[in-house]
Order: sequence, then structure tokens, then C-alpha cells
Amino acid sequence: MAVIRDVMPAFQLFQPTSVTDAQKLLQEHGNEGWVLAGGMDSMDWLKDRIKKPKAVVDLSGIEELRGIRSNGDAIEIGAMTTLTEVANNPIIKQQYGLLSEAAGLVASPQIRNQGTLGGNVSQDARCWYYRAGWPCYRAGGNICYADTPVGRNREHAILHAQRCVAVNPSDTAPALIALDAKFVLRTSKGERVLNAEDYFVGPDLDITRMNVLEPGDLLTSIRVPSSWAGAQFYFEKIRDRNVWDFPLLNVASALKLSGNTIQDVRLAVNAAAARPLRLKSVEDAIRGHARDVTTAEMAGKLAVQGAVPLQFNAYKIPLMRNLVKRSITGVQEASWV
Ligand SMILES: Cc1cc2nc3c(=O)[nH]c(=O)nc-3n(C[C@H](O)[C@H](O)[C@H](O)COP(=O)(O)OP(=O)(O)OC[C@H]3O[C@@H](n4cnc5c(N)ncnc54)[C@H](O)[C@@H]3O)c2cc1C
Ligand code: SF4
Repeated sequence: MAVIRDVMPAFQLFQPTSVTDAQKLLQEHGNEGWVLAGGMDSMDWLKDRIKKPKAVVDLSGIEELRGIRSNGDAIEIGAMTTLTEVANNPIIKQQYGLLSEAAGLVASPQIRNQGTLGGNVSQDARCWYYRAGWPCYRAGGNICYADTPVGRNREHAILHAQRCVAVNPSDTAPALIALDAKFVLRTSKGERVLNAEDYFVGPDLDITRMNVLEPGDLLTSIRVPSSWAGAQFYFEKIRDRNVWDFPLLNVASALKLSGNTIQDVRLAVNAAAARPLRLKSVEDAIRGHARDVTTAEMAGKLAVQGAVPLQFNAYKIPLMRNLVKRSITGVQEASWV
């Protein structure tokens, strides 16, 4: 990677104190505006001089975007709530332990103190080439540098790749999908509420972005309904180093049991594709079955159907099969095979 000796390009910094003002500013600046949350992803882009917005809208002064509120039917988490607050919140820990665990496994304590839940689900791809400013498909060019016989693609996608083979690296996203969370957006047309899995887009829909947000839109909060509170949860993240590191793959499941029968289930993985994947066909196949090794093995096999490895990431197929299996039995094993 090149050595950059220059300071960040200049931009106008705006620090609104209400969502309405933030949205107005973002709409005014359109494609030249940038939303700044905790800055853990944003600052890399700005300091590397790869993204050069003219206006940066800092959300940190907007109180209404912070905090965790409970109203009986759901908890509502402001987009600017830090990952540390999400991980440590007593209600989330007690009733939605899946989310608390996933947030607590993101990066390092320092990054979790600064990074927000809204930023975590809205962060960009970490593909080496793209982050270094190479003019690939995702950057608006007409080539993928990772999908070649010698490309660095060990961390990349095994499912749903289309020209771009980068993955979504968020740890909290699959937990939110498994909890059937709703994402609350403020758009030019007003409030829009989406199922968690519908917030994310793959390269088949738009290769240059990771979510549905248009310039001027904001993610304001995430609602977690009480329907899955206290279910049987499983979260597992595999990474190269157990200090701060992005997932090579993660899995999140929520199970409702009647005796040993799976009455209902929600299941999601991330870092397998450009968007977190809800494994709906696996859910449908195992609902009504016993929670045992046979069902778990069937789930694992089904989950990886259609997976296509790149040159250096074939290991992700057995890894995903086993993570899904473990997410059903609820038992971590030492072996990946
Ligand atoms: C060294 C390192 C290791 C990391 N490891 C992990 C890891 O293991 N797992 C993991 O999940 N993440 C990891 N991350 C990502 C980190 O957790 C942050 O959560 C994430 O990068 C962005 O959060 P942020 O609040 O800092 O947002 P920012 O960096 O400010 O924003 C991220 C993106 O989201 C947009 N955005 C943010 N908030 C909103 C909003 N409310 N509405 C609209 N758009 C918004 C911004 O415009 C920007 O494009 C790591 C980051 C670093 C630097
Ligand atoms: S995987 Fe995607 S982000 Fe990476 S080089 Fe290819 S097109 Fe760019």
C-alpha cells in the first residue's frame, strides 16, 4: 500500500443537534455529504484520502439518537448507542443475550466504546483492494482484483457473489436478523421501517453500497421485538486472532423449543456474502424437527448448498456447515470438520 503523507482533505464539518437538522444538511449536500457516527470506519476512508466528501455531518450531538428504551413490546436502540452500551445493557443481556454477545465480540474494547450500533450495521466492506483505493467494481470501476487466481480472497464470499466477492463484516447484523429486529430509517419521504435482513443489499442490486440508504437518509434506531426475548440463543464468531479482528464467519440463531422439538427458529450468518444472510430455507426445513445432531447436520448441509469457493477460501464451506450445525445443537466443538 502507498504511504500517505498528506493530511485529510478539507471538508465542512456540521454538528447538528436534531435528526431533522442532520437530515436537512445531508439532503442539501447529496452525494457530497457523509454521515459520521463513531468514525471507526469513516476515519479510515477520510484519512486514506479515498473518500473525499465536501460536508461531514457528525451525529454525536444528537441526543435523540442515543440510548436504549424499553416499552414492553420491544426495546428501541438509538443508532448512536455505542457497542459497549449494547453489550452491557442489563435488559439486552438478560433477554436478548444474542445481541449482547455479538456486540461484545466486535473488535476491541476501545473500538466498542467509540463504534455505534448504527455504524456497525452500516459499515462498508473490508476488501483489501477496495480499502486501498483500487478502482474495482465496488469503487465504480470494471474489474474485481480479489476474484483472480492470485487475488487475496481468503476472507471473501462463498455465496451470492456477483462480480464483487467482498463480504459484509458486521458481527451485530446476523444477531439482529435472528432476533427479527426492525431498522427505523428517516428518508426524504418520512419514516421507513424495514426487517433487519432487508436493510442490506448485495452486488446484484447495487454493487457500490452495502445497504438501502440513499444520500440524505439516516438510520435512526433499531427495534428488537419481545417475540424472541429469552429464546435459546447461539452466537459464534470465528476470527484469525482473538484480539480485535473481523469475522471470517459468524452465525446467530434463536430457537423456540417445545420439549426437544424446534417449534420456531431464526438463523443468520455473516461474512459469507456481501450481505448478512438469513437462512430461511434451513429454518423452514428444521422447524418441527427434534433438536438433535441429525437435524443439526441436515441444517449445516442445507446451509452451504450452492456455495462456490474462490482460490483461497474453500475452508469457509466446512466452517459454515459446522457453525450452522453448532448453532442448532447449541454446543461448541473443538473441530471445524
Ligand atoms: C480495527 C477495527 C476492527 C474492527 N473489527 C470489527 C469486528 O470484529 N466486527 C465488527 O462487526 N466490526 C468491526 N469493526 C467495525 C467497527 O465495529 C465499527 O462499528 C464500524 O466500523 C462503524 O461504526 P462507527 O459508529 O464508528 O461508524 P462510522 O465509521 O462513523 O460509520 C460507518 C458507516 O456507516 C454510516 N453511518 C453510520 N451511522 C449511520 C446512521 N445512523 N445513519 C446512516 N449512516 C450511518 C457512515 O456514513 C459510514 O459510511 C472494526 C473496525 C476497526 C477500525
Ligand atoms: S471483491 Fe469487491 S471490493 Fe474487492 S476488489 Fe473485488 S469488486 Fe472490489
